[in-house]
Amino acid sequence: MPLVRVIAVLLLLTGLASCSSPDPNTLLGKADSGHLTIGIRFDQPGLAEHTLDGRFVGFDVDVAEFVAGQLGVKPSGITWRETTSATRETDLTSGTVDLVVATYSITDKRKQLIAFAGPYFETGQDLLVRRSDTAITGPEALNGRRLCSVTGSTPAQEVKARFAQAVQLVEYPRYPDCVTALLAGQVDAVTTDGVILAGYVTQNPELLKVVGKPFSTERYGIGLRKGDPQGQAALDDAIKKMIDTGRWADSLRANIGPSGYPLPAPPAVTER
Ligand code: GLU
Repeated sequence: MPLVRVIAVLLLLTGLASCSSPDPNTLLGKADSGHLTIGIRFDQPGLAEHTLDGRFVGFDVDVAEFVAGQLGVKPSGITWRETTSATRETDLTSGTVDLVVATYSITDKRKQLIAFAGPYFETGQDLLVRRSDTAITGPEALNGRRLCSVTGSTPAQEVKARFAQAVQLVEYPRYPDCVTALLAGQVDAVTTDGVILAGYVTQNPELLKVVGKPFSTERYGIGLRKGDPQGQAALDDAIKKMIDTGRWADSLRANIGPSGYPLPAPPAVTER
């Protein structure tokens, strides 16, 4: 082949390659490098826990690994970063993490700062109390009592809005701090999503119980940076695949089943 034709073909190929490889600043571009940094909780039994021997286990971990796998990233290509209720948005916008998979409720307020794929799970806000407590039967029984929740979580905001005059709200950065305060008698109840509370009961079943009357709907989404519709669509497709292949139900049964929390049906994936 004459040299000019070879050069022309090479130029064409380079052009094609640069057209097909996604922008490195997008989720798909990042995933192309074989590596993603994912924000997760370290202290939510059944959902996401950092074990003493350094592993990450739970339903949120499985969701994160499954969707990363669908984007071409192996578990060994994932860097896990701890995220907390109050830091999820800034962890994404600052670029500290590429995704957040962390019992992260889809809300309009959060959508002003970040985007969500999903939902991949639905639960509702509930109350954790001492097993011996027969007086707290629901949020309306919280008048004059001390209620613990986590800064930056939807439950804390919900309680402030709906029960603020009646309850004394105590906020900590992490849920285990609330559970410790409850066991020590420093607060009377802890509020967050029922599925999270069920995980703490498994650690102290003889001392704690969930009231079991959910009073909100929480739809968990995967957080990503705004303005990345391809990344969002790829995550939605991955969630649907996890549901359709039965991996979603398997993970739920294995991780959440032991807590006795009633396993819900998969949600319709609607975030676009
Ligand atoms: N799902 C709620 C939220 O996103 C509560 C759980 C949490 O704090 O992670 O705020």
